[in-house]
Amino acid sequence: MKIYRFRYRKKIMSGVLKEDVLFPIKGSVFKDFRLEDSAIPIGEVRLLPPVSPSKIVCIGRNYREHAEELGNAVPDEPLIFLKPPSAVIGNDQAIIYPEISQRVDYEGELAVVIKKKVKNLKEEEAWTDYVLGYSCFNDVTARDLQFKDIQFTRAKSFDTFAPFGPCLATDLNPEGLHLKTFLNGKLVQSGNTRNMIFSVPFLLCYVSGIMTLEPGDVIATGTPAGVGPLQPGGRIEVQIEGIGTLSNFVKK
Ligand code: MG
Repeated sequence: MKIYRFRYRKKIMSGVLKEDVLFPIKGSVFKDFRLEDSAIPIGEVRLLPPVSPSKIVCIGRNYREHAEELGNAVPDEPLIFLKPPSAVIGNDQAIIYPEISQRVDYEGELAVVIKKKVKNLKEEEAWTDYVLGYSCFNDVTARDLQFKDIQFTRAKSFDTFAPFGPCLATDLNPEGLHLKTFLNGKLVQSGNTRNMIFSVPFLLCYVSGIMTLEPGDVIATGTPAGVGPLQPGGRIEVQIEGIGTLSNFVKK
């Protein structure tokens, strides 16, 4: 099932896509819900980020080749940092290039969206009960500021630096998904989630052992090799098998 959040005739709603029409959801996407009978053509809505997270937990260096391309060692436990919810934008919205950076990079990633509140998840528990679905994510980074600062907050937190969407795909196995990033139509990243150093269930246990995860929270699971710079006027697309394509443009 693919769940979209969208604006239609000044109302914000979520809906399930069947062929090319959206059936609005009655109730909460985080609980059992029903679908309305009347459908809306997807071409008539404006897509929004699939959920509004209270926080975004990002995993750094979760693919060996990416750690190596930036000259970093492969970590022996997950490296985590936060992006603020104010950075979130949806499909086809603009990434704003900040004036104080001369180097802004794309990082295509698989996002995990939390379904219900979880703290201290244990390995033997049914982790899939806590996952609502998966989406495409772009961990946009002001690389020059990341190298300059001791920690990541400034480089990762500009408004618009967390493109997310276009939908949530439920009932997906997060292992073994092809992830591709296209810059102005040219393939620049091609990875597979099976090459993550730390798996999705491991990350759920690890992160929830540090902080309570709330419904709608996002874990961005790290980027494969091939990161590179964006330019104003460019278009960047993150495509993940079973989910779809998140497409954004860049402007100054
Ligand atoms: Mg990243």
